[in-house]
Amino acid sequence: MKLKKRNLLQPSIGRTLVVCCLFLGIVVLAGCGSLPMRQSAAEVRPGVDYHSFSNPGAVRVEHVDLDLKADFQQKILTGTATLTVKRQQPDAKKLVLDTRDLSIESVEDVTAGGTAGAKPLKWRWGHSDTVLGRALEISLPKKTADAQAEKIRIRYHTTPQATGLQWLEKAQTASQSMPFLFSQNEAIHGRSWIPLQDTPQVRQTYHATIMVPTGMRVVMSAKTVTEKPQQGFFEFDMPQPIPSYLIALAAGDLKTGTLGPRSRVFAEKPYLKAAVNEFSDMEAMIQAGEKLYGPYRWDEYNLLILPPSFPFGGMENPRVSFITPTVLAGDKSLVSLIAHELAHSWSGNLVTNASWRDLWLNEGFTTYFESRITEAVYGADLANMQAVLQWQALEKELQELPPEAQVLARDLRGRDPDEAFTDVPYAKGRFFLERLEQAYGRSVFDTFLRKWFNSHAFQSATTEDFVEFVRNNLLGTQPPHRTGISMGEVKRWIYRPGMPHTFIKPASRSLYKVQQWRDAFVNHNLPAEKLPAKPWTTQEWLYFLNNLPATIGQERMAQLDKVWNLTQTHNSEIAHSWLLLAIKNHYQPAYDRLQDYLRHIGRRKLIVPLYKAMLEDPELRNQALAIYQQAKPGYHHLTRTSVENLIKSTAETTNSQK
Ligand SMILES: [Zn+2]
Repeated sequence: MKLKKRNLLQPSIGRTLVVCCLFLGIVVLAGCGSLPMRQSAAEVRPGVDYHSFSNPGAVRVEHVDLDLKADFQQKILTGTATLTVKRQQPDAKKLVLDTRDLSIESVEDVTAGGTAGAKPLKWRWGHSDTVLGRALEISLPKKTADAQAEKIRIRYHTTPQATGLQWLEKAQTASQSMPFLFSQNEAIHGRSWIPLQDTPQVRQTYHATIMVPTGMRVVMSAKTVTEKPQQGFFEFDMPQPIPSYLIALAAGDLKTGTLGPRSRVFAEKPYLKAAVNEFSDMEAMIQAGEKLYGPYRWDEYNLLILPPSFPFGGMENPRVSFITPTVLAGDKSLVSLIAHELAHSWSGNLVTNASWRDLWLNEGFTTYFESRITEAVYGADLANMQAVLQWQALEKELQELPPEAQVLARDLRGRDPDEAFTDVPYAKGRFFLERLEQAYGRSVFDTFLRKWFNSHAFQSATTEDFVEFVRNNLLGTQPPHRTGISMGEVKRWIYRPGMPHTFIKPASRSLYKVQQWRDAFVNHNLPAEKLPAKPWTTQEWLYFLNNLPATIGQERMAQLDKVWNLTQTHNSEIAHSWLLLAIKNHYQPAYDRLQDYLRHIGRRKLIVPLYKAMLEDPELRNQALAIYQQAKPGYHHLTRTSVENLIKSTAETTNSQK
């Protein structure tokens, strides 16, 4: 089905809300959603993007040509963005773009080509909002009858506070040889470094030339056309149309390694060898994806390993996923994150959520798909263990989230879309699709999903498009008494909080065994050295640690540590679970590691829960504040926002308790 043309409404956002939920599993912080907001009582209109000022229904951007220079001293990008636009309404008089903290120098009509043909255009700032940024309104020239596409060139520079860019000093990188720059556009940060129609409903192709200091390598979510590191010049081309949140840029002292016939890894030298080993199953994973849902349509699939300050696990930028180095476990035990980013090549990048309310179409599908790839490449045992861990995280989060945040199609009017990234669109979305799979059987459901991807490829889709597709292609094929599922249940999954009663909790035989060992240990029936944990996978360790009583006691912590050396584990996820226990039990031998961990890692999923536990503990609060002051310069702005909101909300809680 083709995407219906949707008129974008002017969003009614009154004030900034905090970004306080984490990407890919995920704790919601106290205070989230508690700020007052001005919001229309009117029903949310499906397909309307409330987070963009742009007017693609009148004039639509089809191609972006970037010519940018990265200035690492001033921490800014300078240059031009030339937009190829097409009027959707012949009498349209202005092009409205999204920006945030951009400094605009000039706007010209360059349709005629050549410097002589450039004609200055009038522009002005339109609406402005603390979450959405500022609208840039460009008056279009009078349209001549034959003009099809028009070209508008904007000369601009970014500012050091651009929320979509992180500039790292060389001391903050792994190789410490050169500074580093990376972008993170999702959800609406692209507008802080490119003036564009920053909505997932507009797809554009792009071309870019990027100048950097000599010796650096630039990576973009595009095909590399020219690379001249010694001249600091790189050229890219993205022939497939993508939404703005998938335009991505990184530059640093990057080396490359081969992962497979269509895959390379870019990484700083200290990570390169480990990354090549860790991700050597890349081709098997791509083939597993293709077998399930059809051909991989992006030609190449590469990975970029970022410095540890990257705030997320991964970001599915097409052709090159951006990945945290914290998944380099040495035993491939955390590669499901790669399966997740790869799966986005179908769900998200190929079929894209029409607005951030529809985020679960990107993330729920991808989490389901990730599990299928993991199962195909590494077996059902690992996939089941992950399902159990995912359910435990979701269950915990559902206890903390307000009901309106527990629905799949969440109304985000008046909120920062970064708030949508809780476990709900990921895990609840995945369990919903599994419910459909259980009802119709795997082969019917796989055919159904393939049809969804093929019929919506390179388009955006709304929740309601999917409901309609389910009605016509699943529910309509068999009567409800045969499958046990009705439209009523489908809607309960999507529009109601919590989990429907038909949800069956995932189970894992391996984790059931771990649970028994855990019980024996907790009940003093088994000493730490008798735990059969030598062959345990990361998931088994996580299950064991996450399910220990929060106050197991210092003595038992010391026993576990002595035998299993947990304070010094190189596995960042196991270390996270262990350090959380150390905080709750005031286990001081782990404090040096805790400090080191918080100073060197910026991934929110791993560090925010640790800060939260420390800040809520009167004995550790000041220590947390001191560590944060030292670590702050190396954190991404999203991580800083999360921790600062936490500092504020925990202070409020402490005060209200007095
Ligand atoms: Zn994802």
